[in-house]
Amino acid sequence: MSDYVKDLMAEVKAKNPCEPEFHQAVQEVAESLSRVFERHPEYQAAKILERIIEPERVIMFRVPWVDEQGETHINRGFRIEMNSSIGPYKGGLRFHPSVNLGILKFLAFEQVFKNSLTTLPMGGGKGGSDFDPKGKSDLKVMRFCQAFMQELQRHIGPDTDVPAGDIGVGGREIGYLFGMYKKLRNEFTGVLTGKGLNWGGSLIRPEATGYGAVYFAAEMLGTRGKTLEGKSCLVSGSGNVAQYTVEKINQLGGKAVTLSDSNGYIFDEGGITPEKLAFVMDLKNVRRGRIKEYADRFKGSCYQEIDPKADHNLLWTHKADCAFPSATQNEVNAKDAQNLVHNGVYVISEGANMPTTPDGVKIFLDAGILYGPGKAANAGGVATSGLEMTQNSMRLPWTREEVDNRLHMIMKSIHKTCVEMSNRFGTPGNYVNGANIGGFLKVADAMMDQGVV
Ligand code: NDP
Repeated sequence: MSDYVKDLMAEVKAKNPCEPEFHQAVQEVAESLSRVFERHPEYQAAKILERIIEPERVIMFRVPWVDEQGETHINRGFRIEMNSSIGPYKGGLRFHPSVNLGILKFLAFEQVFKNSLTTLPMGGGKGGSDFDPKGKSDLKVMRFCQAFMQELQRHIGPDTDVPAGDIGVGGREIGYLFGMYKKLRNEFTGVLTGKGLNWGGSLIRPEATGYGAVYFAAEMLGTRGKTLEGKSCLVSGSGNVAQYTVEKINQLGGKAVTLSDSNGYIFDEGGITPEKLAFVMDLKNVRRGRIKEYADRFKGSCYQEIDPKADHNLLWTHKADCAFPSATQNEVNAKDAQNLVHNGVYVISEGANMPTTPDGVKIFLDAGILYGPGKAANAGGVATSGLEMTQNSMRLPWTREEVDNRLHMIMKSIHKTCVEMSNRFGTPGNYVNGANIGGFLKVADAMMDQGVV
């Protein structure tokens, strides 16, 4: 680690105590950017990275709500408006009991670079709440969303800050949030993305993150003259990103053999076919059940509980060609990374945000496998949110083919940027450096142009 990174990290840790995920995200970017600062001292002199690390605004608020039994609940709401130098703040809302300031700051920080990579004019933000929608009635979820929006509506707008979904926030939650915004502000506008198709949503938005992660894997494979045809793939999670990752793997001739939730995972050697995936979508999106039911339903598959005390996750011990971590941050540790490499996995495309720990990332990079970090590989979701914003501004919906083609082009362009930047700064094949540097340069130049604000 250079002296610059050491000093920077000491300051970040002192100023932002108890935020380990934020420290982790900043350190990775700072290490990549050391190479840029050697050639471009002007960015360092203008303290561009130091400014990006400090959110432009942090909003934290009380969310009181009353359930159908008359009981009062108090949750905590957040919106981190991280950087608006290339466009309005843009990034998802996460509803999960683990949500805290540090986790949302890491996500908002990553979002700045990711959004820049998409080539679209979007700044970076993130928000959410420690509210847990799991197992809650639709009425409870609606009441919470309405209470959350009562405060959030003051801070967002189509030209200011445009939230979307993330863990625990899907079509149902976006609907309730949008309805309340519209009522309070008396305006029908593109203030959220991930909306329903008949009220301003974009075709392909639900599919986009998963499809994009698979397109990115296909691009990486292409650098070695290979395709996804016949490749065996490990997928974690079973939510929005995991489901559409499996769908696109199937469409490109690959075979997905695992899915998981926070209780356990299923392994299906025969592959999660479109018919089996339809069962998973109904199970997770309609009945809101657990992935264990997959193994009860389909002969030849098995279910394994996840042991939270174990030092590794058995899901990552199966032989395969590709892996798509699509659940949550730090779900792949060093031991998991070793298991993946030993079992022949040579393509990792991260659907989740920062799913691999830093020592796990080092193992992938040292092994020379094709490793696509989340901020590049999962950028298809926010890119298609950007396309939803464009359609809302034009008041014209595009066809499925048009949006999918644009998504595919954007993923190719992100891949090209990563390759070019990693080459230009002396670490060919290192997509981590490529993504961090590519994302940084556009934001940095905009900040230089706009002065110290
Ligand atoms: P969903 O809420 O739809 O699904 C999340 C899945 O991950 C569920 O299967 C959930 O299991 C599992 N999971 C969540 N937290 C944990 C945990 N702590 N341990 C184990 N499993 C867990 O979320 P998404 O699919 O939208 O998001 C998944 C990842 O992709 C996140 O990292 C998110 O930030 C990232 N992402 C999402 C985008 C999007 O467009 N939705 C865009 C870019 C990135 P359970 O139901 O048991 O909690």
